[in-house]
Amino acid sequence: MNMNDMEKHHLYIISAFILICVFSSCRHSNTINESAIAVSILPQKYFVEQIAGNDFDIQVLIEPGASHEMYDPTPAQLARMASTLIWFKNGFLGFEIQYEDKFRELNPKLKVVDLSKGVQYIVENYGEESHETESSIEEHRGVDPHYWLSVSGARIIAQNIYEELIRDHPDNHEEYNKNLQNFQQRLDSLEAYIHQRLDSVSQHSFMIFHPSLTYLARDFNIQQIAIEERGNSPSTRRMKEIVELARSKGITMILYQSQFDSGNAATIAKEIGGTAVPFDPMAYDWYQNMIKLTDLLYQGLNPSNKK
Ligand SMILES: [Zn+2]
Repeated sequence: MNMNDMEKHHLYIISAFILICVFSSCRHSNTINESAIAVSILPQKYFVEQIAGNDFDIQVLIEPGASHEMYDPTPAQLARMASTLIWFKNGFLGFEIQYEDKFRELNPKLKVVDLSKGVQYIVENYGEESHETESSIEEHRGVDPHYWLSVSGARIIAQNIYEELIRDHPDNHEEYNKNLQNFQQRLDSLEAYIHQRLDSVSQHSFMIFHPSLTYLARDFNIQQIAIEERGNSPSTRRMKEIVELARSKGITMILYQSQFDSGNAATIAKEIGGTAVPFDPMAYDWYQNMIKLTDLLYQGLNPSNKK
């Protein structure tokens, strides 16, 4: 064999190898990074860290400041998905339903863990005049996805994360179990704190632009009134209704999500002589965020007793 033939020979072997790869399983032989985890939203990163500390490299799919109702993963996020060990998903976010097949195609070994498993779901309710065939309802499969903003939801999320992580890393069983117990104790304290603040409020209703506190409201017996209409900005008619409703119920607090809906919230607050208060359902430090939220609700539901 002269040099030229040898090169041809090599080329042949390489080509054959590529062909075998293309027509067999090579494209599915992605390498998994055992410490790579993906989560859909930032508070889920916080929950994973309560159980596993800094043991994992966690990619958050919905970037800070983006809407959890409308989102598309970036090309870099899709690329990283190919080597990710676990994706902890909310289960009811529109983008998850839209992209799950794509993620599985990029990474057939991906473990997809639905953190809502075991949650007592609340079916979305858009009021009497709603039409149940709206596409925004279908995106959520009819279930309100905001269960992470409640203590009962957090308990289940933490348990689900723990069970998955010890399955993948059984050596860490003892440590993760201790962390889980600690976190559950902190949740007990948080729950007691919320009861202490919200059990004896002088009125029970508050308004919120995007209804992200449905589970919290259920668990602590307060009433959430959504301003947006099926995920859309309220019409002029709806704005009038909301203002009248707020006046009749003596509501003075309007919560809104800082990056998105300050305009309408401010308008309504001005009309009723109340206050528009920003609240971020996607904050990283979930625990502190829940304390802050509780204090905001305490003030807003005791309007004569402001501190
Ligand atoms: Zn939402």
